[in-house]
Amino acid sequence: MTDSKEFDNIDLHSSLKKYFGFSQFKGLQEEVIKNVLRQNNTFVIMPTGGGKSLCYQLPALMQEGTAIIVSPLIALMKNQVDAIRGVSSENGIAHVLNSSLNKGEIKQVKQDITDGVTKLLYVAPESLTKEENVEFLRSVTISFVAVDEAHCISEWGHDFRPEYRNLKSIVERLGDNIPIIGLTATATPKVQEDIIKNLGIGGATLFKASFNRPNLFYEVRTKTENIEADIIRFVKQNSGKSGIIYCLSRKKVEELAQVLQVNGVSAVPYHAGFDAKTRSKYQDMFLMEDVDVVVATIAFGMGIDKPDVRFVIHHDIPKSIESYYQETGRAGRDGGEGHCLAYYSYKDIEKLEKFMSGKPVAEQEIGNALLQEVVAYAETSMSRRKFMLHYFGEEFDEINGEGADMDDNTRNPKEKEEAKDGVEKLLKVVTGTSEKFKSKEIVNTLRGKTNAIISSHKTNEKEFFGIGSDKDKGYWMALIRQTLVAGLLRKEIEQYGVLHVTDNGKEFLKNPSSFMMTKDHVYNAENDNAIVG
Ligand code: ADP
Repeated sequence: MTDSKEFDNIDLHSSLKKYFGFSQFKGLQEEVIKNVLRQNNTFVIMPTGGGKSLCYQLPALMQEGTAIIVSPLIALMKNQVDAIRGVSSENGIAHVLNSSLNKGEIKQVKQDITDGVTKLLYVAPESLTKEENVEFLRSVTISFVAVDEAHCISEWGHDFRPEYRNLKSIVERLGDNIPIIGLTATATPKVQEDIIKNLGIGGATLFKASFNRPNLFYEVRTKTENIEADIIRFVKQNSGKSGIIYCLSRKKVEELAQVLQVNGVSAVPYHAGFDAKTRSKYQDMFLMEDVDVVVATIAFGMGIDKPDVRFVIHHDIPKSIESYYQETGRAGRDGGEGHCLAYYSYKDIEKLEKFMSGKPVAEQEIGNALLQEVVAYAETSMSRRKFMLHYFGEEFDEINGEGADMDDNTRNPKEKEEAKDGVEKLLKVVTGTSEKFKSKEIVNTLRGKTNAIISSHKTNEKEFFGIGSDKDKGYWMALIRQTLVAGLLRKEIEQYGVLHVTDNGKEFLKNPSSFMMTKDHVYNAENDNAIVG
């Protein structure tokens, strides 16, 4: 399959047209597909809606043999299969192999694969680990294995699934040198690293699209007891537009949906506690625009492709920035406006921490590290877009970048003040404590407060202990966040957030220069204990 004809642009384009009816590739699709057709390992990172599916569907249709698509959700797989059948109108071209099939259906699937009819076989990782399936797949021609939602491999992703961990060894058993394609919409550097390691695709070509969604407006509001009235006002101001409101609990979903209905908003609730029939009824009502708003838990949204969602409200702050990005990513898929509004109170963070308290320690540490990033996002006064993209390992020019003025902080900038002295003190303390401490200990050291960790390192005997006692915790936390984004400090995520001084930070210490700091949300706020306590 590697003869030059396969790389002919005309051939690619005519296949694109033939199978999908599209006349142009989107973003990096063409490059990715060429790389897959060259039988190379490939790693694709594209935001939701970027067009990842086509990156494996088209080469699968163009190649000999069957491509195996590993995907975590049966419902999602079914959508995809239906979509392909729709365009190709050739039955058997794509199949799902999972535990919901009866014996006769399994036989048919296997027959189609053996006959070379099936180009795409969607499997859940659990099915792929079944010995009988492995044995069968060893006997047929596999064009490649695509691992969709590859972030499920990583504990640092937003949807860790242990079964994803064994994929590499299974693929090795299926045949020699079967190319692997990893695809995900989760872009944090740590997750990327885990995927590459676990799938063993060190040499893979990386295709990474920008995560910037310039048409989305990001806003955070402080959560007060008036939140419901605030939401009603917001929804009414946007009446006739489609929106999703996410809540943490099923109870809140039902309550809020009712409050909205009583107030004349057409809304339905959605959560996993409803039976399948009710769920699909409410989902359809939203998709068909019989109602404007769906109030939902995060059970709602995976695989839902409604292009004109105009707002996504988070009644409760999500547990990670990835989740927030995914959930808000459902707004404005058609390129039109999308307002992403999150309500934030530190109490909600504590609630989420409490939820985690029964879990294994390592999981808790990861969960807490992810939560601290959410706190930082919510409390920052800098461009939220810049903050979020930085989190995903992407630089953003907050003056000229696309969508630069599309967040509350940029529209209503907070006051800035010179913080050259503060940065110097901060970097001195991070260096002086041998880059062993997380934010909490750094702030305590700056403020001259002892705790068990600080005294065990004898940090309280150092000359710099307490050099920042003239400022409060909020100030120092804000400064840490801003120096992180400015690239003077770096957080070691493997060490759950230990701070390190970067080369730029070292340069700053040699030649201190102006550093304009934005006064953050909590800078003068009453919840002085909130962040570090
Ligand atoms: P992802 O898996 O990255 O979230 P999808 O594969 O679901 O994205 O694609 C998102 C949408 O873009 C789908 O509606 C799909 O049909 C559409 N799409 C994908 N590729 C193209 C293309 N080349 N031209 C037009 N539309 C495309």
